[in-house]
Amino acid sequence: MSAVRCKRNRLRTYLMNRCRTFYLLAWITLSCGIAFAQISTPDDRYKADILVVVAHPDDDTIVSSYLARGVFDQHKRVAVVYCTRGDSGSNSTGRERAKALGLVREIEGRKALSRLGITNVWYLDGRDTASQDVLLSLATWPSASVLEQVVRIVRLTRPEVVFTWLPGSVAGENHGDHQAAGVTATEAFDMAGNPTMFPSQLVAPIRQFENAFEGLTPWQPQKLYYFTDAFDTAFFKGHGPEYDGNQTSPSRKVTYLQLAAQSAAAYYTQLPDPNIGKRIENGDVSAAAIADMEKAGYLPEPVRLWLGKSHVESGATEDVFQGLSSTPIVFAPVSPVPAESEGKLAVQFGGPFGFYRNFWRAHELKSLETLRPEIAVEPRDTLTIPVVIANSNNTPVEVTVAAELPSGWSASPISPVSVFPHSQSTVLLRAIAPSQLSEKFAEIKLRADSQGKILFQDSVFVQVSAYVAGQVK
Ligand SMILES: [Zn+2]
Repeated sequence: MSAVRCKRNRLRTYLMNRCRTFYLLAWITLSCGIAFAQISTPDDRYKADILVVVAHPDDDTIVSSYLARGVFDQHKRVAVVYCTRGDSGSNSTGRERAKALGLVREIEGRKALSRLGITNVWYLDGRDTASQDVLLSLATWPSASVLEQVVRIVRLTRPEVVFTWLPGSVAGENHGDHQAAGVTATEAFDMAGNPTMFPSQLVAPIRQFENAFEGLTPWQPQKLYYFTDAFDTAFFKGHGPEYDGNQTSPSRKVTYLQLAAQSAAAYYTQLPDPNIGKRIENGDVSAAAIADMEKAGYLPEPVRLWLGKSHVESGATEDVFQGLSSTPIVFAPVSPVPAESEGKLAVQFGGPFGFYRNFWRAHELKSLETLRPEIAVEPRDTLTIPVVIANSNNTPVEVTVAAELPSGWSASPISPVSVFPHSQSTVLLRAIAPSQLSEKFAEIKLRADSQGKILFQDSVFVQVSAYVAGQVK
């Protein structure tokens, strides 16, 4: 071997050793998490002014003319969360149903929102559950996982304002998933600023390749607004602002309603006829084309909101952005008032009606406490109304529950129930609706007595309607 080759070999060996040492040190550094660049600021691309939390792809159409105004003319950043993919919906375009339909509807939602300039869109793990029972939706979603995900998205997007469905039972579509989205968004609104809730989301990452700790920070949104799928939204008047979709967008030179129609046209599967959407996509945003959308239940006019909560000074009917602080506000924990009827023998509605009264109190939704128990059923359908009797006495108590039914309604009498000491029982009134449609509310009166004393008197107000999402059975 020549002296030159020998020298080259020594050089090559030296360089290989240097490389090995470099890679070894790099591997040790990455594996042990020693000294990696940690960014201390959140990703501003995901900051939102408004976070919309809804149940299904197409729920956005209830407020989309307002969102068009916010995005195009007020330069607001909007993010949207769908708690389900709408996998139990119908399909007027193809044969795909269930989870396959969920995949189709996910794309429809992304298309619709992209037409409003909204691209920060997330789909969660809730299963589309067609009924009017919020508790059934929360049971099947699963609700704990969806809540954790919504809290994460609030902390990620740091919205000033949250929009969601009314957490309440109304005569209307009254979809249980809509209500569950409203319940979950309200819980997330009250939780996201609390550092003890889902704390692993808030831990700073300790490794370069982190898969547990998320590096988020607590976030308290400032205002919470609701919208509704009630047949008649007049009861929202005075509780929040209204927005006229017939106003013309200064930047787009068409009305907000037309912009919303172009967005909603993407929902082929959910329109009664996909040609309604195709016609608008082909440029026809005439009043007739928009009327077809409205008949499908889309694009209500005006957009009516209900101010559920505000942590800044703002009148209920003032603009959504009125009174907002330009800097983050501190965590505003709820301090609920205890239940009023904490006697030895307490009777109240069970099911959604009873749940909502407790929920509104627990989340300090004082304005919602004015809502009466309402629902719509189809002709000849059975409406089940649970009544819960809680006995805190040391002796058993016999309670009689009776109903006073409006004309045309029928029900079997309820047998008296004996409630054990320190226990509770639920009795069910199964009331059968008449065969005639009626827009007028019928009042079903319930009363509970024990030993000649009235324990409970309350009413449920019911419409008999041609279409509802399902029944509380
Ligand atoms: Zn829906």
